[in-house]
Amino acid sequence: MLKFMDLFLVVLTAGFFFWGLSKRIRNWSIGIPEDRNQNLKEGIRSLLIDGILHKKILEDRYAGLIHLFIFFGFIVPFCVVLLTQIVFTLPAFPAKLLSLFLDILAAAAITTVFLAFIRRYIFRNPRLDNRPQDITALLLIFFILVSGLFVEGIRLSVIGGESQAWAPLGKAVASIINGTGMSLNTKQTLAFIFFRIHFFLVLGTIASIPFSKLFHAVSSPMNILFRSQKPKGILTHINLEDEDAETFGISKIEEFTWKHLMDLDSCMRCGRCQEHCPAFQTQKPLSPKEVIDKLGNHMRRRSPVLLKARSSGKTAEETPPLVDAVIPGDVLWACTTCRSCMEHCPVYIEHVDKIVDMRRYQVLMEGKFPNELTLAFKGLETNSNPWGMSRESRGDWMEDMNVPLMSDTSFSEIDFLFFVGCIRSYDDRNKKVTQAMMRIFKHLGVKFAVLGNEEGCCGDPARRVGNEYLYQILAQTNIETFRRYGIKKIMTTCPHCYNTLKNEYAQLGFTCEVLHHSQWLQRELESGKIQFKEPFAKSVTYHDPCYLGRYSGIYDPPRHVLKAVPSLCLKEMTLSRRDSFCCGAGGGWMWMDEKIGQRINLKRLDDALETNAGAITTACPFCITMFSDAVKDREIEEKVKVWDIAEIAERALLGKEENPSEPVLKPSSDSESEIS
Ligand code: SF4
Ligand code: SF4
Repeated sequence: MLKFMDLFLVVLTAGFFFWGLSKRIRNWSIGIPEDRNQNLKEGIRSLLIDGILHKKILEDRYAGLIHLFIFFGFIVPFCVVLLTQIVFTLPAFPAKLLSLFLDILAAAAITTVFLAFIRRYIFRNPRLDNRPQDITALLLIFFILVSGLFVEGIRLSVIGGESQAWAPLGKAVASIINGTGMSLNTKQTLAFIFFRIHFFLVLGTIASIPFSKLFHAVSSPMNILFRSQKPKGILTHINLEDEDAETFGISKIEEFTWKHLMDLDSCMRCGRCQEHCPAFQTQKPLSPKEVIDKLGNHMRRRSPVLLKARSSGKTAEETPPLVDAVIPGDVLWACTTCRSCMEHCPVYIEHVDKIVDMRRYQVLMEGKFPNELTLAFKGLETNSNPWGMSRESRGDWMEDMNVPLMSDTSFSEIDFLFFVGCIRSYDDRNKKVTQAMMRIFKHLGVKFAVLGNEEGCCGDPARRVGNEYLYQILAQTNIETFRRYGIKKIMTTCPHCYNTLKNEYAQLGFTCEVLHHSQWLQRELESGKIQFKEPFAKSVTYHDPCYLGRYSGIYDPPRHVLKAVPSLCLKEMTLSRRDSFCCGAGGGWMWMDEKIGQRINLKRLDDALETNAGAITTACPFCITMFSDAVKDREIEEKVKVWDIAEIAERALLGKEENPSEPVLKPSSDSESEIS
């Protein structure tokens, strides 16, 4: 049992730990309130599976296993010692079993500390940046484990006998000690010294947790517990009519919510977000890891100042706005909002929300944004499409197709409203996909209608670049139209429209069932209403669009459609499903020119070409444009065709021969005159 002095030290350590913890938590209190009282059961489930059992960390097997063993190698012996010293004493046999378990765990933990060192300092994994706090944490854990092992070894060398059989690693250390021929007295002195070293190291490490890198062991599980349970594609709603609001968007650290500030303290700088970021991978100035790190450092500097000012009833000295002072503007605008960072972050840090919130301040309060967006905003304001093409020509794609209009029918007479979207309405290449869907509908006798010139942009392009004001105007206009026609179900071929209509319009009070065409095609195939007959004797590769895959979890329906086509051979890219690499068009980049580094669409084209497939398929108008542009750039458009799954389905259903690779209208400031 622990002696009084030791107990006093344990209590002192606990006090220091909780004092430090409360200081860190108080830092988050400068943030604005946010209701994260979600489904507690789901939060706890996530905490157990992702936080304790390391499910998400283990997605990177090697690094995950290293973290798992170090985590359990530190936590489990600590808990066991604490319980067996203070709460109860185990009977002989369970004690032996526990001894064996701890021995194995210690061996695994010491080995993995070595592996972590090799990974960090010998092979220098490029996604890790080494700082003094990293080596300090590794060394502390190493010395705790080794000193614990020595204590055990000396103990076994003294008591010997049967107990050694239950601790093979301890037995090995005991044999070495016995081999030195030291006396019992010396052993006892050594045991005392090593126990004291071990004991002080453990207490010191625990006391230092709130002030060191090891704090993530506390903050990350909390972050996982309070992770967002909203649909992935929903950005924070801004009440633009709030008369008390002085600003919109984020320009100061204290304008983030407490949960966003907790995020900043939960990052363990593992670099997974950066490794999967298309902007970082193509030499743009953005690293999501650095964004979180810089905001975190700023918060830790700024919070105590704000808290002190608050407690003394004074106003803290103003600091320059975050953008440019902490996060350079070009970093902010480099993001494609692909969500790959968030999907791969083991502790559920929400990068995209922070980036869009900072963009919002730039656009709404400062009027600062990349030049190319001026045209897109103007087009959206005047004609409800980012190219500013005439609103009256929105329905030109249906010329001579006899497409039913919503204004000529009522919702009770149709199964769904077909929401075409801007790109599928105006872009010549993408119009073909819309027309392919029309021919499928007509062939099957589907009851549907379109809005024609009454349709407007769903608002996604404005929202992702921070123009919340414009987004809400566009969204409200569509919502009024939907309400006027009593719309209950919508189908779209655009994953961006899909996410916005399905998830984000609910923030403005409109909900209805929304389907992506891949889901509808899958359902019709499964019900037998669609039967593909025409073979497609080609190998194709499928690119998962970010807003369909990572955002909406729709990975299987498009593959189901492709696999149902006779003779079609589906070849997967190395980066597919949730690992899919962005096409480069999201987050406003469809309307901006990539001037820095490699073009994202060309990098993704390389991924597709690696499969040696004869065609690239996808299910998003943004991706169709970016791939068509990329094959044209590489002058391989005759060799590698780009298809939407709707076009392949039409061909398989109707046997229609069609070359999908017509010239593509790449929207940019240069091509504006060509479009309008
Ligand atoms: S959303 Fe995509 S582009 Fe933006 S930071 Fe995350 S990974 Fe990078
Ligand atoms: S934000 Fe997440 S993925 Fe990125 S370095 Fe931090 S913990 Fe790792």
